[in-house]
Amino acid sequence: MPQRPGVASGRATRRVVSGVPSARAVPGEDPAGSRPIRSHPAGSPAAGSPSTAGTAAGNASVGVAPLIDAHGHVQADPFAQDLVSVLAAAAEARVVRLMVPGWDLGSSREAVALARAAAGSVVGIGPFPVPIDAGVGVHPHVATGVDDSTWEEICALAEDPVVLAIGETGLDYDRLFSPRQAQLENLRRHLALGRTTGKPVILHCRSAAGQRDAQDDLLAALREAGIGDEAWGRALQGRPPAILHSFSGPVDYAETGLALGLAISFSGLVFRRGEEPSAEVVRLVPPGRLLVETDAPYLSPPGAPRRRNEPAWVRVTAAWVAERRGEDPALVGERLVAAYDATFHGPTGVARVATARG
Ligand SMILES: [Zn+2]
Repeated sequence: MPQRPGVASGRATRRVVSGVPSARAVPGEDPAGSRPIRSHPAGSPAAGSPSTAGTAAGNASVGVAPLIDAHGHVQADPFAQDLVSVLAAAAEARVVRLMVPGWDLGSSREAVALARAAAGSVVGIGPFPVPIDAGVGVHPHVATGVDDSTWEEICALAEDPVVLAIGETGLDYDRLFSPRQAQLENLRRHLALGRTTGKPVILHCRSAAGQRDAQDDLLAALREAGIGDEAWGRALQGRPPAILHSFSGPVDYAETGLALGLAISFSGLVFRRGEEPSAEVVRLVPPGRLLVETDAPYLSPPGAPRRRNEPAWVRVTAAWVAERRGEDPALVGERLVAAYDATFHGPTGVARVATARG
């Protein structure tokens, strides 16, 4: 995984990334379909100017309903220069929860550093106007790059109180950047880590167009790991054992996942051709297990710049959820926040939010 030095500039941005290893390229979805995200012009006006970036997502997105972003990689390279503005725009759009998952060791460390820093700030003041939680794990794209010592470090990070999820991990048979066997082994140890830590596992799952082999293998691995059984129930204390993040797949796959107790999170992917089943799936998910996300900097929804998605744009997917479910957007917003807390914080975590975050 190529890296480059952090390119933070400006006092406020330096404060945000202080103590955080270099910003990195995330091996997730490519908004352009083929181009690696690290090729984005971080110094361009759109990506690099705080005022431009903040305005682009902020002014258009002021709403009344609270929002969540259950999956945004704001530690990735494209945010290195203007994270403060991006978070301010998110707050302006009323994003009140942000989960930042890692995709490898470095990005997991960065997620933890951001969440720790955010936990020390006051909501609405300073460089962290949005509370940040962290996930730690290894993406299937880079599953082959994990040796024992790297995994031990991921496991150690997973114990940190600001880490509320394991991942992202999962299976990607669409691009197959890692062999299937390596992806499956990587997935299995994340599931084991989820159970031992009692933290839900964030699952990425993509098959090639028209296929469902990754989804079927994922469900088989979840069953093999005992997801849904009593041991998981005790370990997770009422939280879903895993999240199907950036949902993609057939309706019966979602139904099986829901029967196993999983949460489902929808991203800008729902607007793409081939993802039509999502419009039916979104009506099946119980409110307590329904999440929305950006997968920023990827998967820009309609209206958002394709070169970089950011947390404020989650409003587009949340509006789609309300429309598809025939529900009031304000009610959907309140339920999303409750579902986020129930998924990631659990019964004790909500109290932590109330006391630590006002
Ligand atoms: Zn992701």
